[in-house]
Amino acid sequence: MTAVSASEEVISRLRDEVCGLHAELVRSGLVAWTSGNVSARVPGTELMVIKPSGISYDDLTPSSMVLCDLTGTAVAGEGLKPSSDTAAHAYVYRHMPDVGGVVHTHSAYATAWAARGEPVPCVLTAIADEFGGEIPIGPFALIGGDEIGRGIVATLTGHRSPAVLMRSHGVFTIGGTAKDAVKAAVMCEDAARTVHLARSLGAPESLAQDQIDALHRRYKDHYGQR
Ligand SMILES: [Zn+2]
Repeated sequence: MTAVSASEEVISRLRDEVCGLHAELVRSGLVAWTSGNVSARVPGTELMVIKPSGISYDDLTPSSMVLCDLTGTAVAGEGLKPSSDTAAHAYVYRHMPDVGGVVHTHSAYATAWAARGEPVPCVLTAIADEFGGEIPIGPFALIGGDEIGRGIVATLTGHRSPAVLMRSHGVFTIGGTAKDAVKAAVMCEDAARTVHLARSLGAPESLAQDQIDALHRRYKDHYGQR
């Protein structure tokens, strides 16, 4: 049995999930035209499911999601070309084995910080919770090859933040699942927007490192229904 047939049910579920999560990007106002994308690793395989290139969000269907290997090449039989960001997603899956989902957006406020090459400082409890510190800036990188993926992995490895602001470009987020990565993208934009507003009123107050550590620990260990 090939890896593909062994995981057919899982792949079908992930096509549904990844397709549905793109609607979440639209609902949260994170994307313009066709500019953002979500992917999910197919657990236990060398495969991933990602948005097709250049298709309107309204026209996305589970079957139009593209199954690719972890070099970013579409698996034989897939009808559409994968997102132009596929190489970056694939690089992250190859080098960060715990990552099950990746999201990319050019969401306005977060990308405004990326345009200035400035990390979003950790000045709110919600930022300490979700990001465990500032939201870091990654290097400038050209789209297409491994350069963006390398920048994401170099910035986020050993970092608490699931989001990186790639310089002069936009946001990449990672998560244990694609939904976790979408949540990080929504929270990243929310944090970037609120700190921008705070800045326009004056200098935001910093949180102390021990406060940040305590907030992040509590959020990771105790938050939610568990
Ligand atoms: Zn982009």
